[in-house]
Amino acid sequence: LGGAGRLYTEEDPLVILSSDSLKSAVTNSSSAWLIQFFSSWCGHCIQYSSTWKALAQDVKDWQDAISVGVLDCAQEENFDVCKDYSIKFYPTFKFFWAHSPPSERGTTYRGADRSIPSVRQLMVNVLQNHTNLDRPKHCPPLEPYRYLDLNLDRVGVYHYTAILVEEPDSYVGREVILDLLQYLGVQVKRALSSDRPLVDALKLTAFPAIYLLHPNGTHAHLHSEKPLRFFFSSLLRTLPGVQRRLKSSSTSSSGASQVGALPGKQNTEPWRDFDRSKVYTADLETALHYLLRVELATHNTLEGEELKIFKDLVTLVAKLYPGGGSVVKLMETLSDWLLSMPLQRIPYQAVLDLVDNKMRISGVFLGAELRWVGCQGSRAGLRGYPCSLWTLFHVLTVQHDANPTALDNTGAEAAPVLQMMRRYIRTFFGCRECGRHFEQAAAVGMDNVQNREQQILWLWQQHNRGNMRLAGSLSDDPLFPKAPWPSPSLCASCHEEKNGVHVWNQDNVLRFLRQHYAASNLSPEYSV
Ligand code: FAD
Repeated sequence: LGGAGRLYTEEDPLVILSSDSLKSAVTNSSSAWLIQFFSSWCGHCIQYSSTWKALAQDVKDWQDAISVGVLDCAQEENFDVCKDYSIKFYPTFKFFWAHSPPSERGTTYRGADRSIPSVRQLMVNVLQNHTNLDRPKHCPPLEPYRYLDLNLDRVGVYHYTAILVEEPDSYVGREVILDLLQYLGVQVKRALSSDRPLVDALKLTAFPAIYLLHPNGTHAHLHSEKPLRFFFSSLLRTLPGVQRRLKSSSTSSSGASQVGALPGKQNTEPWRDFDRSKVYTADLETALHYLLRVELATHNTLEGEELKIFKDLVTLVAKLYPGGGSVVKLMETLSDWLLSMPLQRIPYQAVLDLVDNKMRISGVFLGAELRWVGCQGSRAGLRGYPCSLWTLFHVLTVQHDANPTALDNTGAEAAPVLQMMRRYIRTFFGCRECGRHFEQAAAVGMDNVQNREQQILWLWQQHNRGNMRLAGSLSDDPLFPKAPWPSPSLCASCHEEKNGVHVWNQDNVLRFLRQHYAASNLSPEYSV
């Protein structure tokens, strides 16, 4: 479904429709559709596009039940189709029921309230107005269950069953049901707080609340720091054994599957239990090991710009790597050696020899094997190197903040860690497609980063954009599904809701990042 309009690009989490694709998309579709017919010259449509993209992102996981699309009526090729669908004003929102016939021209939404929560509730209503027979195949029942129908003693044998009990006019239950559509291992049902027998049986007093039936037959109230949709959905997605359904398409932008495709070692190695609230030095050391001995070693010689980038990276790591241990000594030695070399061009083998020799003579050690801990994947080819590279650069942004003078005398720019990361990724990172995405983001916003705090937050935000784009792609490890980070269980105060929409509390995010990636939160467990 091609033909990107000017306001929307293929990167946006929605479908860009055109005269060629509209009819075939909505006719006999297994999902319902919400389509915004807009005009790229209409000022309001231009302003509204950011809201529409945020809405599409907000309901991305609902797409098997209801898909979000756009069609630009200002494009000449679309003149006829917009006339055929009677679009007179922009924007016009139309809903199409699942399994619509070819003659269907959609139902126009005439309300003036176009805020995200209102449109989202409309989408829920559309889904709920389907009959049991024509409901989208992947949409579970949205009606509330009654106490007797819930059959509490018999549910949840093979999976979790979450019963979200809420006030009758609340949409949280239906939104959480749809948020969990892409996940296996948990079924969500809703019930009403007006159902006295149920509320008494479950001993619930405040709403909305989740009562969770475990596969092993036990049940209990599920504690959530805040009674918000985002918290409930996030808690259910991260229950042990709950997994994201993977897209079967080969069209995902999962370049990381190439970079992460390390030799099958991870499979044969024992699983290393770890704590998600810690950062492991083993991951940082393995990142440097892989970077120095594998990624850069594919270059026979380094010269010119490449040599400069390599020197700068080694210096930066030497100055900012936390803890001052053997990694720092090795990097300092390497940095001194590189700076003392008069050559314009060095054979990379000389670097490898120096690293190996230095380690042999002085006992300075950088693990000689791939030893992922927080970056372990559930199978080879997932997580690993790209995960550790993100981790390394997050640590470096926080270290730069904690040691503001560390880079004095190195001619540092406003955001030296980000600029270094940009140059490294562009020049050496094995996943070219990833490099292209990162470069696009850097070109738009990196130069606006003015200080060390913004440096930490920019990388966090950029990483989250990637997480959202890649959720459910082939490089998404089902055991570690990509989601906005930090999750509410890592940092509850990082999350808020404003006018029905999830928002970050950036002050608390910054506080959390400073703590999470601080030297004091590094665990040496499993390190060499
Ligand atoms: P990762 O996303 O690698 O995250 C590693 C760890 O960082 C997480 O376990 C978590 O503890 C922490 N974390 C997560 N989010 C944040 C955040 N927002 N802020 C701070 N810490 C966080 N893959 C593609 O398929 N396509 C791409 O275009 C692509 N581009 C990439 C660009 C770069 C610069 C890099 C380094 C990697 C890129 N990758 C891309 C790989 C992808 O982003 C993941 O690294 C990879 O899929 C492994 O994912 P993961 O689940 O281990 O978590």
